[in-house]
Amino acid sequence: MFSSCFRADVFDQFPADSHSLLKDIVFSQAGVVFPDQVDALTNKLDSAPNDLLVRLMPLAAACAWAPVSSFYVGAVARGLSGNVYLGANMELAGGSMAVTLHAEQAVINNAWLNGEKGLDRLAVNAAPCGHCRQFMFETSTAESLDIMIGDMTDSQAVEHCQLTQLLPSAFGPKNLGVTTLLMDDASQSLQVDEGDPLAVAACQAACASYAPYSGGYAGVALRTDDDAVFVGRYAENAAFNPSLTAIISALSQLRFGSLNTRRRISEIVLVEHPAAVSQKQLTDTVLNALGVDHFRYLEATL
Ligand SMILES: [Zn+2]
Repeated sequence: MFSSCFRADVFDQFPADSHSLLKDIVFSQAGVVFPDQVDALTNKLDSAPNDLLVRLMPLAAACAWAPVSSFYVGAVARGLSGNVYLGANMELAGGSMAVTLHAEQAVINNAWLNGEKGLDRLAVNAAPCGHCRQFMFETSTAESLDIMIGDMTDSQAVEHCQLTQLLPSAFGPKNLGVTTLLMDDASQSLQVDEGDPLAVAACQAACASYAPYSGGYAGVALRTDDDAVFVGRYAENAAFNPSLTAIISALSQLRFGSLNTRRRISEIVLVEHPAAVSQKQLTDTVLNALGVDHFRYLEATL
């Protein structure tokens, strides 16, 4: 589905002795860089530790899926654990502009789904749009998050700032009385009637999702034709519109896990806690745009 979206000529921008490690990161590790690899790349790319994020932006942008805009955005973020994550934009041709995923959302999603509890620095190769500034402001470390806005044609032209400078007079979770934030350690106790592994995986994703405004906790689990499983979680936003749906979260992870593999979705489950909002119709619409005509919808109980 997203197969062959990776633009492999990006490796030409990196020294030959780094290619093997960079290929592991994008083809075997779904855009996750572990701390020992961060150290190795810092040496191989002859970069300062903070500059490494900017140096890796082209690698992240090479993962973008942008059939509408052909505008490739890469984001690279460092988690509190020391891991570094890649994210890239994703557009769905035949779908709707409203389900476009931006690179900053993708990298936060990747970090969050890998257990990260916050980010200290995020680099991106285009100025974050208003939508992304608002999305980033929902995260546990928003008040201290450093942003690096880079230029892929000039590695020296990097603008440093804090997220709080990019979003003055911000409206955020605290305005709505929410103090446990996106990426904070929190879990719901949801259950579903069906006990097969995919339903359980989707329910676990729903339990770890973030829906403090609606209570519509939701998770998606999908299986591919080669029996790989990917999950996604719902991430709400205080401004509502920038919220990330569980299906888009899962599709982004499928994309990052399949950069050199041809995969199709064979089975998919959405688990959702009933609330004033629902992702059922939107999930159906997105899957139709991808040619997937069936998914299981399971209501969860607390
Ligand atoms: Zn954006």
